[in-house]
Amino acid sequence: MDPQTVFCHNLSCPASGQVGKGNIGVHSRKERRYKCHICGQTFSETKGTAFYRLRTARDVVVVVVTLLAHGCPVQAIVVAFGLDERTVQDWQTRGGQHCQRVHEHLVEQPRDLGQVQADEIRAKIQGGILWMAMAIQVQTRLWLGGVLSTARDTDLIVTLMQKVRHSALCRSLLFCVDGCAAYIRSIRHVFREPVPNRKRGRPPLRPWDGILIAQVVKQYAHKHVVAVTHRIVQGTQTHIDTLLQRTQSGGLINTAYIERLNATFRSCITALIRRGRALARQTTTLHNAMYLVGTVYNLCTYHKSLRVRLYLPNNRRRWLRRTPAIAAGITDHLWTVKELLTFRVPPPPWKPPKRRGRPSNATKALVAQWCS
Ligand SMILES: [Zn+2]
Repeated sequence: MDPQTVFCHNLSCPASGQVGKGNIGVHSRKERRYKCHICGQTFSETKGTAFYRLRTARDVVVVVVTLLAHGCPVQAIVVAFGLDERTVQDWQTRGGQHCQRVHEHLVEQPRDLGQVQADEIRAKIQGGILWMAMAIQVQTRLWLGGVLSTARDTDLIVTLMQKVRHSALCRSLLFCVDGCAAYIRSIRHVFREPVPNRKRGRPPLRPWDGILIAQVVKQYAHKHVVAVTHRIVQGTQTHIDTLLQRTQSGGLINTAYIERLNATFRSCITALIRRGRALARQTTTLHNAMYLVGTVYNLCTYHKSLRVRLYLPNNRRRWLRRTPAIAAGITDHLWTVKELLTFRVPPPPWKPPKRRGRPSNATKALVAQWCS
């Protein structure tokens, strides 16, 4: 147990989320609990991880979640490990929810995205159809998140674009999408900035400069592609060519990267396998599975096309392998699934409670000590 690596989880504690400040001590080695000396609360070693309040050995959970994240059917795990089906599904839910928190903390941070590709997967669930829309940053192959809906409509695409916007800086940004008309409306609707004025009511919204939209429209006959049309909806050819050259080798308008990622998700989520028999019953099952697979893909899987050649002294060369998260500068090493499941997402910084009048000297001292 190392008190220097954990933080207090109490949202009303001034020291919540702060690591290595000396406020945490060991409360009980037998029960493996820590204590925060600022608020006096004790908490378990596993608080904030995917293992919180689990009785099973951690290594078994890690192996099962790793198998689930790589497309192993639940029934195979039930037979191989002698576990109850509901237990395995509970671990998948825990893993998915934990991965979503990690994704929102690490990936949904503003960065220069360059080129983004987006697409939807049609998924069959028991008693209906579900659409899974996802986006990828082409240069680093970083999965930017996904959303699920029963209809392939503007609401679905707007929610996806809001996710992309959380990860985007206001720079030149190229979208390569399919022929779905909702993309154009949604991108123009989401990527706007309020222009402050001194009048009452909502300030006017101005579209972001540098948003470029290109469409790849495929025509089908007898379930085969017979023609592909590239269409520039917003921006100039020169501007798009510059961005394409910067963000991918080859430099043509395409949606190949997101389609390849869709194939990864289809192979790693049993409910998405075409003509499969393991259909999901609920949207949340697929939502959790998507975040588990997506976060393991981003943080725990080397991507062959991201490797770079290192030139060492004496004419020696070596390949440096990278995950999408390493390429995006989120981390510097390959994460193990155990590291992912034990990662604690810190709570938002503490703010003093709102009171009338001037803050007391005690509050001022707390703010000076913990909010600097
Ligand atoms: Zn505390």
